[in-house]
Amino acid sequence: MQERQQSKRKLLFLIVFIHLLPQCLGRPQSKNGRYRQTFEEVKREIAGYKDIAKAIIDLAVYGKAQNRSYERLALFVDTIGPRLSGSKNLDTAIKYMHNALKENGLENVHLEPVKIPHWERGEESAMMVEPRCHNLAILGLGNSIATPPEGITAEILVVTSFDELHARAPEAKGKIVVYNEPYISYGETVQYRSQGAVEAAKAGAVASLIRSIASFSINSPHTGWQYYRSDVPRIPTACISVEDAEMMARMSSKGMKIVVNLKMEAKTYPDASSFNTVGEIVGSKYPEQVVLVSGHLDSWDVGQGAMDDGGGAFISWEALSLIKNLGLRPKRTLRLVLWTGEEQGGVGANQYYQLHKVNISNFDIVMESDEGTFMPTGLAFTGSDKARSIMREVMQLLQPINVTAVYENGGGTDVDYWVQDGVPGASLLDDITKYFWFHHSNGDTMTVQDPNQMNLCAAVWTVVSYVIADMEEMLPR
Ligand SMILES: [Zn+2]
Repeated sequence: MQERQQSKRKLLFLIVFIHLLPQCLGRPQSKNGRYRQTFEEVKREIAGYKDIAKAIIDLAVYGKAQNRSYERLALFVDTIGPRLSGSKNLDTAIKYMHNALKENGLENVHLEPVKIPHWERGEESAMMVEPRCHNLAILGLGNSIATPPEGITAEILVVTSFDELHARAPEAKGKIVVYNEPYISYGETVQYRSQGAVEAAKAGAVASLIRSIASFSINSPHTGWQYYRSDVPRIPTACISVEDAEMMARMSSKGMKIVVNLKMEAKTYPDASSFNTVGEIVGSKYPEQVVLVSGHLDSWDVGQGAMDDGGGAFISWEALSLIKNLGLRPKRTLRLVLWTGEEQGGVGANQYYQLHKVNISNFDIVMESDEGTFMPTGLAFTGSDKARSIMREVMQLLQPINVTAVYENGGGTDVDYWVQDGVPGASLLDDITKYFWFHHSNGDTMTVQDPNQMNLCAAVWTVVSYVIADMEEMLPR
């Protein structure tokens, strides 16, 4: 009896011990909102990464890896070109990156299948035929339907806002609505691109032309995705240049009658098979826990998609390359994901999230760079106050390049699924002044990119992702 009781007690002790073992080994408790270390301890832990951060910066900015992300990106975009969702170019790009990541020696390099939209613009044109002949620079908006082959010829109604359109709705019937909305910010003004066709159709318009969402223009149209509604008739829609929108507004304010012939061949095909491209450095101590760094591989079908989001995708790859070059292996897994179908609303990333959200408690932080790789100014972060104060300490490691600020609202289209569920999110903040000059236009080419600035962005991205992946505890939520 006694022996059995003793062995029972031993068993109980063993169970308790096994249960506590992970904590004794420093398992993070942040899953339950607990964080074991005091802030002073965390501060000291982070300060201990000073030499590693310095080594990363030296290698990325001054050393052998200098200009590597720029050179890799130039070869990629010059060879492949733009990478529209559902296009052959995008398939080629994914195969190219799959090989490149393997050749780079990353681990678990693989493709995860997803379905993405397949829309093609075909031939398109818009000719002002009254009061004079003038060829308008246009780009059809993603998801738009075509016009009949002979085009749509109709009078123009110019409005500057949805409010004005609603007030003048009776005038819109049978016309092409031109939106000449002022550019306030991308986030605010982009509603005219995404909902302009629906609002115009509700008023009985036959097509809509939207002033490009751009902070500066040299007569360039800027495309982008737009959404129809099942309860509103679909009408063809395209963006026009700031210059043409303003000209038509001036003409109509003088009472001139403007007539435009719009021709678009746009076509939507069944959803295409595509892939998110993944590569890792597997964690040495907590391999199941993940620090995710990412950018999107798809782009619009104009320019080269070098800025949006070639830069973000390639500094994310560079982060893993630099860590490998330095012979480092963080405690957690550093996972690179190159998303597909972002421009159509984070379509590839959504399927990734649906597939992997069962493991959400193992996602330490999700990072995406998709707002340019110009001169970096800091990190945007979304997370708890406690996590934010940890991020502030991590950013102090970037003092040698003077990029230490932590801002609000970190995340991105592709990682926001996780951020909304409480996973800390980060994005790179840079000098975004010129970003919307080129965004979704033929101007988005390698010429926009600067090797020095990409080096600095890569250094920030690498230090942050490595240190978070290597710290003893996950970020508190
Ligand atoms: Zn983008």
